[in-house]
Formats: sequence, structure tokens, C-alpha cells
Amino acid sequence: MRRVTFSRNFTLSLSRTCRCYCKYCAFATHRAHLYSPDEVRALLDDAERRGAKELLVLTGEAPEVNPEVARRLSGLGHPDFTSYVAWACERALERGMLPHTNLGVLGREDLARLREVTASQGLMLESVNPELVVHQGSPTKHPERRLETIRAAGALRVPFTSGILVGIGESPEERVAALEALAEVHAEHGHLQEVILQNFVPHPRLYGAEPAEIADTAQREGERGEVAPMPAWGSDVSLDEMRLLVRESKRLMPDVGVQIPPNLSDWWLPLVEEGATDLGGLSANGDHISPEHPFPSPHRMRKELKPRGYALTERLCVYPQYMDSGWLEQGVLDVVKARYWSFIPRRGSGRREATPVRLDLVPRAIERGRAGEALGAEELAALFAETRPEAIEGMRQAADELRAELAGDTVTFVVNRNINVSNVCVVGCAFCGFGQGRRSPEAYEHGREEFVRRVEEAVAFGATEICMQSGIHPDWELDDYAGWLRLAKHTAPQLHLHAFSPMEIDHMARERPLDEVFAILREAGLGSTPGTAAEVLHDGVRERISPNKLPVGRWVEVIEASHRAGLRSTSTVMFGHIEEPHELAEHMRVVRSLQERTGGITEFVPLSFIPFHTMLGRTHGIEEISREENLKHTAVFRLALGRSVTNLQASWVKMGLDAATESLRWGVNDLGGTLMEENISRLAGSYHGVRLEPTDLIGAAHAAGRPAAERGTLYDIRARHDLPVAA
Ligand code: SF4
Repeated sequence: MRRVTFSRNFTLSLSRTCRCYCKYCAFATHRAHLYSPDEVRALLDDAERRGAKELLVLTGEAPEVNPEVARRLSGLGHPDFTSYVAWACERALERGMLPHTNLGVLGREDLARLREVTASQGLMLESVNPELVVHQGSPTKHPERRLETIRAAGALRVPFTSGILVGIGESPEERVAALEALAEVHAEHGHLQEVILQNFVPHPRLYGAEPAEIADTAQREGERGEVAPMPAWGSDVSLDEMRLLVRESKRLMPDVGVQIPPNLSDWWLPLVEEGATDLGGLSANGDHISPEHPFPSPHRMRKELKPRGYALTERLCVYPQYMDSGWLEQGVLDVVKARYWSFIPRRGSGRREATPVRLDLVPRAIERGRAGEALGAEELAALFAETRPEAIEGMRQAADELRAELAGDTVTFVVNRNINVSNVCVVGCAFCGFGQGRRSPEAYEHGREEFVRRVEEAVAFGATEICMQSGIHPDWELDDYAGWLRLAKHTAPQLHLHAFSPMEIDHMARERPLDEVFAILREAGLGSTPGTAAEVLHDGVRERISPNKLPVGRWVEVIEASHRAGLRSTSTVMFGHIEEPHELAEHMRVVRSLQERTGGITEFVPLSFIPFHTMLGRTHGIEEISREENLKHTAVFRLALGRSVTNLQASWVKMGLDAATESLRWGVNDLGGTLMEENISRLAGSYHGVRLEPTDLIGAAHAAGRPAAERGTLYDIRARHDLPVAA
């Protein structure tokens, strides 16, 4: 799965008055144009309503050279235009939007003033040819002047966007030379976050019309305007030429994003396949530079990208690697932290500024964890946030020893089949790529015949367990759930039925006492309960990622009732998204104390978050947790459970079989099931497959130097697979 990004922005063309006369431009005017403060405020309110995260401030160059603009600015108390832009940016920041400005060629002082109120700035290099006809009358289009600005921004440590225009009279060699010039500046300062490869499209003359209005209307109506003829100085650009530029950008600046404007051609998809990484700022109010070309909707682009293995994800105007105090002014960084903290790369731990983490507690916490003692919240938070390699190795060793003591060396697995009877769901969790509204074209519901076929297939495969979970179907009642159990038992009485998450139990129970519900389910064939729907057992996190889901107290009630009914359960955690170390610590406290009360939990299953096709991943910039972080968390889960839960399972669907094999050194003793079908992670964008053969799991255990054994759901050993004797 590869990510392709875009920024949800709103364009403010604060002034279109410009000192230049570029022939391709339909944006600039030489009359006085300047939005008043009231107009700016109204536009910003509109931007906020439309959910913009970025304010893109586009302007003509040095509009104050126009005496009328200068007079208006001075009447507003601004000595120059930059001062007014800074004022507008401050108003945007107050509303929680991050400004990105592009004012044309600027001196160091102006760039520095804007740095105080912007998250990033930009300037297209356009071309390295100083003689282009199209730039006649525009002295600041000289490549040296532009490179000076780009270089000055680098020296000031301004996260910066640049790019080239393609098809304005330059030669193919000059295009590559322009990319080389950008690469050279980037090598000096490391500040280029992305390079835009923008093909020129001719515009009709807009005469006295307002591009902002044309763009907004075109965007709302989604219709492209009239296509203008190619002027004599312009040239058509082929897809192959653009492909070459994508490759050259990546070769010259491998760490810099490559942006393709998706509204200026139909080739954005092949260019993504060639390596482009970004589709730019999709302005809610259209493209003010090419107003007759509305942006395609994120929904449409996502639909085209998904089947090709790409996940369209939001980014901010400032790229993640620049989100720190070295690159951003404190006031701007504060907005990022307050509003968009999930976009800040974790760099090895959870969000750190909220609750201070006591790393000094780590060495003793490792010792106490190894001894099986209950760790306090601060100790657990410190372990989850730990980044020092030697401390992490200490955690690994302690978790591995505890695993050996509690579960021995044998690596277990179960031959099972998942059946997700329906994905219709009314809950709408932000982390879920599986649940669908009833009217969604992707909604499904198996009939009885299909269900029986799947159960029979599981039997033929040698499965001993059916794991059954579905979305929260609005029409299903307790009788329906019990009906699926009866049908499975009728088809294959020998199978263990591991079914229904606490959320499903809560849904089917309605007003009925839980003990009664479990008695009915048990009678219908239920063998044990999955401890899913736990996500993070902290109501604050649940409020943010799944506000409609059952609260922590109810989850605990359901699992306790299951145990009371003699139905054991598993327990899970979904981590690696927006949760913080102290919230995971609370999760572990809840699970451990429940287990100490009932003893009914068979295993603990850490499930790392798969972000790709989920709302949480798309709109919160959340990356998939790294393998190293995943393994570290695994070790902490083992230490947090102490001797309360014997079995720690690795989910190969989430982390891949290779990392799951490695996790056997980090406290894990169980590799879960063969699954046969897996929809929940797959639809969230997991790329680790949906089915394994028992021999794959046996091979993984043996590769880790450990014997394997097939188990039943409740950890009864069914067949041993010892290590092959060395030849
Ligand atoms: S996680 Fe479960 S409850 Fe939440 S939306 Fe997905 S299917 Fe529905």
C-alpha cells in the first residue's frame, strides 16, 4: 500500500494586483485589487465552515507598486503588503488554519516576517531559461531572482514548496536543468518539501471577471470551462515527457514529494503510478490560477486510487518532517499541536507534550514487570514511550523470559476460519474500513446457503474454530445472532464457535440482562467470546475514534458476564493511532484487573492500527506504526499483563508473518489462526494477506527455533510439530 497525499485547503487571493506581465496568466490584474479586512474575515469564516486545514494565500507580486493599493494598505495601517498578509495569516491561525503563502519573489526580511505566521511558503521556479517569451515584461521571473528567494527561504529554515512549469516554451533539457537547480538548493538547506510538476494549460481571457468567483462556481458545479487554443509560445506536453520528469525529480531529490495538479490533465493517475506522491492542495473554492479547471473530489480520486493499491490521505501544508521548533515558529507549532497533533510524526513514541513521561522509572519497571508485579500507570506510560535502544532491548529480554516462564517454548496456533456475516454497520468508527451503511454499494449480507458453504469449506480445511463477527446490523436481534450459531452447529457440530464482539452483544441485548443473553447464546452453541471492540479502553480515546461505541464500563460488564456464563474470552487492544502512552497504560490496567477478578481471559492480542482506508488514517495523517515500535509495544503488553494472562498472540494480518515471527522473541507465544478469510484488516488496507496454511505457521515457529503446536480455541493442544532434527 502506498500513500498519496493532498491538502484540504482554501484559497485567499488577497490581492491580484501584480507588477509582472506573464503571458500565461489569467490571475493577475494591473488595476488595484485588494480584499478589505471584512472581506478577508468573511472568507476565512467560509474556509472554516468548509473544513479547510490550510489557508493558501496567493497574490500578485508586490501589489503595493500600484499607488491605489499602496494608499489602501496605508489606510489600513499597513506599511506594505507583507504586513497585511501577515495580518490575514494571524486571523487564519486564530481559526485553526495553517497558512501557506506564495507572494512571488521576496527578500529575506519579508520571508522572515511571514515565517512567523505561516506553516510553509512557496515559489515556483518555473524555468531556468531567462529568455522565455512568456516572461517578457516580468523581471522577477528571471531564474536567478527566483532561486535567490528559494535559497533565502532555506537559510531561514522555511518549509518550502517549489516546482516547474512545463510547456511554456522551454526545452526538455531546460526542464531537467530546472529540477537540477532545485536539487542543488535543496542539498544546501534541506527545506524543499515538494516539487510541483505543473503542465501549462492555456486559459481563455477572463477580461474583467473575478477568477475567485469563476473558480468557486466551477468547483461547486464540478464542470470544466472552455478550453482555449494553445498560444504560439506554448507547447503541448506528452504523458511520456511528464513521466520522465517524475522520474528525474525522484532521482534528483529522493526525499522530496512530487506533486501533480490533478485538475490540469487526466494523467495524474499514471503519474502517481510513475512515482508522484502528492495531488496538491484541493481548494474547497477552486483553483484561482486555472479557475476553469475544478479539482476532482477526494472521493473520486480515492475511488480511482484504491484498486491500484494507493491510499489517498490528507496532509497539512507543512510536511511531517518539518513539524518541530527548528522549522516552525512557536505560535504556528502551537496550532499544529492543538489542532492537528495526530499529523505530528511519533518519532518513536506517543504524543509527548500532554502528560510528562518519567523515563527514569524504566529500569525498575522492567525488573518489576519481569517479576510479574503489577506496574503503575506512570511506569507503563514510560515503557510505552521508551526510545532508547538499550532500554528496549531490556524490555525485550524481560518479556521473552516471562513468556518462557509462563507459556514455555512451544508456539501455538489455531486452524480456524473467520466469517464476517455482514458488513452493514450503524456505528461508524473512524478507524474502520469494514463497516458500511446499508445502502452502500459495498454493503453485503450472506444468506444462509452462503454461510453454510463457508462453514463446510472450513471443515474441509481442517478448521476447529469458526470466528464470527459482523458490523452492527440495525435489523438483527438476539434471535438472528442465535440463529447463525445454530446454523453453524447444525452444519458442523464439532466446531468451536468463537463469536460476537462485546459491541454486538450489547447491540443484541438491548434491555435484556446480559446473563440471559449469554445463556441463550450458549444454548445456541456459543463456545467463547472475542474480546474485540476494546480498541483502547479509555473513554477519552473512544470519544475521539468511536464515539458511538460502547463505553469502557459496558465493555467490562459484557466480558465479565461472558466469563460468568462459563464462556471464556480473548482480549485485544488496537494501538498505533492517536492514543498516548498513559491511555494504553489505562487499557492494560483495565484488562489486568478484570482478569484478576474472573480469570476468564485466554489470551491478549495486540492489533496495530492499519490506517490506509479508514477515516482516521485519511484525515489525521496517521502512518502505519513501524515494525520496531510494534515489537516494542508487544514486549510492554507482556510485561503489563505479568502472570495474569498466559498467552500473548501476534496478529500476522496486522504486522505481517515476518514481523510476527520476530515477535516470538518479544514475549509472544501464539501466532493466532489461519483465518481463511479476513475482511476487517484487508478493507482497512492491510497487505499481509488473508489466509495462511498451518504449514506457514509451523514454519514461522521453526524459523524462530521453537517447536510449534496446533491448539484449540481454549489452548488445548491438538498436534505437536517439533523442530526438525538437524541433518
Ligand atoms: S469497527 Fe465495528 S462497530 Fe465500528 S464501524 Fe467498523 S464494523 Fe462498525
